[in-house]
Amino acid sequence: MNAYSRKVKCSHCNKNMKYKRESGGKYTCSTYDNLGKEHCQRTTVKEEFISSLIMRRYRKEMSDEELRNLVDCIIVEDNLLLEIHFKNNDEPILLKGNFIQF
Ligand SMILES: [Zn+2]
Repeated sequence: MNAYSRKVKCSHCNKNMKYKRESGGKYTCSTYDNLGKEHCQRTTVKEEFISSLIMRRYRKEMSDEELRNLVDCIIVEDNLLLEIHFKNNDEPILLKGNFIQF
């Protein structure tokens, strides 16, 4: 689907993460994907997982377009360490391993 095209960044290299269709749609570090593990880490996150966090926060189903319009940027360290920032000045969703702040 690629709802978050150009909004998902790898926290290690600050580059946009690349969308891949595999595993139902996921973002992976483009530096790692293009240049290999000497250059960055294999940072990945599933798109579905990001969308589920946002819909849990707002307690409603949203279309990809609504989700995309709401999101300013997503900074990913790995699949359990990420930040979702919003355009509407709402507090970001912070996922820190076992701890999540909605
Ligand atoms: Zn990276």
